[in-house]
Amino acid sequence: MFHSIKAKIITIYSLVMIAFTSLLLLTIFLNERHRMLDLELAKSTEISQMHASMLSQDFAKDVSILKVLSDDFKTVSNDKESLVTLLKKLMWVGDGDFINAIYVDKNLDLTDVNGRTMKAIHPMFLRADQWDDKEYYISNPIHSRFAEEPVIIISVPVRDQENKWSGTVAVAMPITLLPKKLSSIKLGKESYAWLVDANGLVVSHPLKNFILVNKISTNVNPKFPGFNEIVKKTQSQNNGYGSYMDKNLDESKVVTFSKLEYLPGWILFVTTEESEIFRDIYEIIFNVLIISAILMAVFLIFISQLSNKVTKPIIKLTKEIKASVNSKHDYFEGVYSNDEIGQLSKAFQSSFKKIRSHTVHLEKMVMERTEEISSKNALLSEQNDKLEELVSKDPLTHLYNRRAFISLLDKELARAKRHGSTITLAVLDIDHFKAVNDNFGHNVGDEVLCTFANKLTANMRAEDLICRWGGEEFVILLWEATADGTFNRMDMMREQISQLHFDGVGKVTFSTGMATMKEDEEFKDWLHRADEALYKAKETGRNRIVKS
Ligand code: GH3
Ligand code: MG
Ligand code: MG
Repeated sequence: MFHSIKAKIITIYSLVMIAFTSLLLLTIFLNERHRMLDLELAKSTEISQMHASMLSQDFAKDVSILKVLSDDFKTVSNDKESLVTLLKKLMWVGDGDFINAIYVDKNLDLTDVNGRTMKAIHPMFLRADQWDDKEYYISNPIHSRFAEEPVIIISVPVRDQENKWSGTVAVAMPITLLPKKLSSIKLGKESYAWLVDANGLVVSHPLKNFILVNKISTNVNPKFPGFNEIVKKTQSQNNGYGSYMDKNLDESKVVTFSKLEYLPGWILFVTTEESEIFRDIYEIIFNVLIISAILMAVFLIFISQLSNKVTKPIIKLTKEIKASVNSKHDYFEGVYSNDEIGQLSKAFQSSFKKIRSHTVHLEKMVMERTEEISSKNALLSEQNDKLEELVSKDPLTHLYNRRAFISLLDKELARAKRHGSTITLAVLDIDHFKAVNDNFGHNVGDEVLCTFANKLTANMRAEDLICRWGGEEFVILLWEATADGTFNRMDMMREQISQLHFDGVGKVTFSTGMATMKEDEEFKDWLHRADEALYKAKETGRNRIVKS
């Protein structure tokens, strides 16, 4: 698959697209992450400030109600019935926010909305000079004798004509009202607001078991590592933010805080899960991913069609060229288009034609050369034959020379051994030949040699090997020849030649020494024996044959 250009283009394209998209997403994520975090923190801080100011306004409203009605208490302080009526009025104006209304006189005698009276012993009921610099007082949550649940006491002083403290009007607000107040501001799905009082005690929290139990602290809490740093910030800043780890939920959380203007020491916290902050960015990334996937699919289809358009003619051209190469045709259909592929096809066609015509020309040339070489070879072999003849034959008598005789000898001896033939060597020498030369001249001597050689050839069998050994001396190797048989044949020939008349010379005789080859005898020893026999023939009168 990966051998085709199309597959390569698509693979490379996909890889580039994937790398590009991943890089894009990573960049978006890294950029947007910080931006989102900053935005979310700014938003969250703003929200907690809004909460804090709303809560403050809520308490301010309650304090205002108390202030407005506090003047009426000056006149009714000694009339219990009127006092209770006023307290009821207070409850009514509070519109269900209060679970009790209280009046405490100068003597710390306390009367509540239900007409109960007792001594106000709780230190949160301020008296005399404690009110000097205060317009109102809001307590931390306390367990009151009037109510079963913890309450916050909101109180204002009642002053006489000389502006001296003459009593306290107070209302009790259940702390369960706080979450209701907090819930009036909309937060994100995973965000929640909670409140601590001036002692750092949690007074409102979505987790009920935290309320009036947990206290924020600058000490490290292993359950919420990092939170103590935020607490430290609350000691010096009116609002701010930080993050910590919630080990219970294994969740990283972001916290913003804001102090309540109207309740000194109280702090409002807004906690948000960090993943919530990034929800938007995850959504963006998801959308980008979907769009990239769609774009990639569209581009892939586009690229696939485009590459089809490009690769199809190339594949066709490749197939045709291969077929053309294999079948050795100089023609193929080709691709007819105006683009580079068409031009390539044309170029291939003309190249093929040229190659074919070159090949034909080359084949013709090779044939001509082959013919030329073979005729030259014939001539050469003819000349070789002639050369061989020249080298091996004696030019005067046309008999084998000594060199040819010796070179043929090994073959002849092996053949004789194979057939178990008896072979005999005869060494012939013309008698007194020097005198022929001396008396009639060298040319006549030559003619005598020629005639003598012809007579030898005529008298010998085809298988006998005749050679001019040198000068007027001849050697004959006779086949299937016993000593006696050879003697008789040689003697018959001697007789014949001695009867002959050689032109311009007359009679010519020759002497012969002969030896039959002994088993495993070396040629030189064998020849030596024949030579000695010849010597004997010469010595004993010439024109005779002597056996070794
Ligand atoms: P003998 O009977 O002892 O053999 O006597 P001879 O004279 O034949 O012996 P010798 O060896 O003394 O002489 C041989 C002569 O043969 C000598 C040389 O001039 C002659 N001769 C050798 N080769 C040729 C040749 O090719 N042509 C001619 N014309 N004469 C040759
Ligand atoms: Mg001689
Ligand atoms: Mg001689």
